[in-house]
Amino acid sequence: MLTVDRVTVTYDRTPAVRDASLEIADGEVLALLGPSGSGKSTLLRAIAGLEPASGAVRWDGDDLAGVPVHRRGFGLVFQDGQLFPHRDVAGNIAFGPRMQGMAAGDRDRRVAELLELVGLAGYERRPVTELSGGEAQRVALARALAPRPRLLLLDEPLSGLDAELRESLALDLVGVLRRAKATTLLVTHDQEEAFTLADRLAVLDEGRIRQSGDVIDVWRAPADERVARFLGVTTVLPGEVTDGRMSCAFGSADVPWALTGPATVGLRPHALRVASTGVPGEVVSRARRRDHTRVTVDVSETVPDVSTVDAVATMADAARPGDEVRLTLDPGGVAIVG
Ligand code: ADP
Repeated sequence: MLTVDRVTVTYDRTPAVRDASLEIADGEVLALLGPSGSGKSTLLRAIAGLEPASGAVRWDGDDLAGVPVHRRGFGLVFQDGQLFPHRDVAGNIAFGPRMQGMAAGDRDRRVAELLELVGLAGYERRPVTELSGGEAQRVALARALAPRPRLLLLDEPLSGLDAELRESLALDLVGVLRRAKATTLLVTHDQEEAFTLADRLAVLDEGRIRQSGDVIDVWRAPADERVARFLGVTTVLPGEVTDGRMSCAFGSADVPWALTGPATVGLRPHALRVASTGVPGEVVSRARRRDHTRVTVDVSETVPDVSTVDAVATMADAARPGDEVRLTLDPGGVAIVG
């Protein structure tokens, strides 16, 4: 188990990470999610031992302060793989096991096993310079896993890839991490990637961890409006919760809390759908997405304190700027803020 206890990293007197604490249990995947520049890579580097920091990084209770990077038993994967260009695929993956003194026959078996795991069986003799971006990241992952690290540190491992490949590799990566039972810290600025891959989230903003918890809990109940907006909420409005049911100007939905009282409701675009019934408004703009149409709707005439909201329509829906539409609430996109 990894414990990060009040870690602070300061560059030129400016703290890039402030008082960060988190834990990762064995076999768990934690995503460190935050906007660019929020300190994610800095914290990962501090955990790896690549960056001097105050506070403590512990493994199973042992302080790693005096332990150099290569003795921490951590595997690292960066955005651009950083494979050894003069070694072939097998040479890259066998590097760690060789350093550990593993016999040649065992190394070959370990390489084959890992190539199988990452979906590249038979790639042993390929020069790494001839791999596609997605293949190179799979090899980087196999190389990091080869010495059986106790913790895997992934720093934006999919960011260098195009959107479609990213999505399919993210799904593959979930399987690889589960099968390898790898305890993992994943750094990403992409909430979808974090949701796809992680069991738990820690949201970092301006060097501070604003919230951490199970993915679904953070998603449903962001700690404050800033975290909510970072997690895709585009409309915030007052509401009321009574015995596990939330109501707001757009309708009501079940929520998993037995609270009663006023609440701040956060709506993601897909919480509001263009339908035949619901709150009326006028379409201001529209943008087609891959599998739906995103519309911005002016509801200022019907909903107090809210001017425009983001909503979704089906691809076939012809809603155009100027059209009157009705918006119905989809509970799946609702969050309670704070
Ligand atoms: P993220 O990974 O979330 O994009 P970083 O950890 O890379 O953020 O950076 C956090 C902050 O620390 C940024 O303001 C960045 O400019 C600063 N920073 C990062 N590395 C260094 C460095 N080596 N020297 C000085 N400032 C740095």
